[in-house]
Amino acid sequence: MDFNFFMPVRIYSGKGAVKNNAEVFSAYGKNCGIVTGRSSALKSGALDDVLSVLSKSGINCIIYDKIEENPLIESCHSAGSLFRENKVDFIVGIGGGSPLDASKAIAIYAANENLSPKDIYLRKYDNSPLPVLLIGTTAGTGSEVTGVSVLTDGATGRKKSISGADCYAKAVFADSSYTQSMPYEVTISTALDALSHAVEGCLSAKYADMPQLFADKAIPMLWDCLKWLDKNKTLPDEKMRESLYYGSLYAGMVLNQCGTLFPHPLGYVLTENYKIPHGKACTAFMGELISVGYSYAREKTERIMELAGTNEDEFCSVISRLTALPEITMTDEEISKYCSRWDESAPGNFINTPNGFSKADAERIFRKRFGV
Ligand code: NAP
Ligand code: FE
Repeated sequence: MDFNFFMPVRIYSGKGAVKNNAEVFSAYGKNCGIVTGRSSALKSGALDDVLSVLSKSGINCIIYDKIEENPLIESCHSAGSLFRENKVDFIVGIGGGSPLDASKAIAIYAANENLSPKDIYLRKYDNSPLPVLLIGTTAGTGSEVTGVSVLTDGATGRKKSISGADCYAKAVFADSSYTQSMPYEVTISTALDALSHAVEGCLSAKYADMPQLFADKAIPMLWDCLKWLDKNKTLPDEKMRESLYYGSLYAGMVLNQCGTLFPHPLGYVLTENYKIPHGKACTAFMGELISVGYSYAREKTERIMELAGTNEDEFCSVISRLTALPEITMTDEEISKYCSRWDESAPGNFINTPNGFSKADAERIFRKRFGV
């Protein structure tokens, strides 16, 4: 029954969460740095709501709106310098996982003038990050509630996470109405990511009673929506958007305690080299994970199916239809190059997989799925 549980984020939820909690912004200072992607903050309506609250509260703001998908450490470093020069007191991140993760890194760079872009991975700096407030516009990563930030090193093109107590937001404004402007493909990929967090967490060696509570909520909510999306191939209504969004937060709480398994690092390879969006890139390996689960963690895997009210066949075929990758081929040389990132040591995602997972397993899966 032992577990460690740490989830220090205050969540203000519901329609109007930003406008109804204006005093939270004022508590963090008079100068705000807003972090967004190119257009989602505007399209979702979240940016307008934040600007209105800041203006009514007499808070100055500066906007950095150049965060790309799979955010680069170099962009985060530039935004950090801009915010430091403008004496920003706190950061508001608005968007999907990319701007939210970027906000956590920018908060570190802004507070630590001498930190070079790639030294953020070493996690050695003197000053605490600026306070971060987050507003999600996708229903996927759960970055709002996790102490994780996934960043891409522009020099190598590789994705790598930082995590820890100082990577949590101080507060989150969780309003699913900001996810309504997501196009169908983004809705699918982000929902797949959320389901993947819950399923990988359930099968992880770190799974325990506390994350189970969140997985029990997340899996049926997300699965029902994904099954509906697969059948109807159209945008969900407001109620389903709400289920997807809260489901993604519950799944984020599972990820936060259990981490992810091999589908995530293998998915990074598809995103980095073949531009597959994060969620689809990870669920591309869901079939392999479920098969490992049935071989080495049968009870846990059966419980996932029971929670979803489905069986292995239906589960894997819905996921594989929704994931539908474009044609990808990999030569042996490419597979060796992609897998060389695991030369030195196996990441936690491999170690926590039922029966373990190795670089050789990754090479075998890539060869079987994509080999020429
Ligand atoms: P994203 O990369 O933030 O956004 C994907 C696309 O959707 C972008 O074009 C974005 O536009 C658009 N978009 C977002 N919200 C929208 C809205 N409401 N209306 C219209 N368009 C919208 O997608 P994501 O899947 O949420 O985040 C993926 C990133 O999170 C990856 O880097 C992944 O590795 C990371 N991640 C983090 C965690 C964690 O715990 N921290 C967990 C899993 C994954 P804009 O470019 O205009 O914003
Ligand atoms: Fe993910």
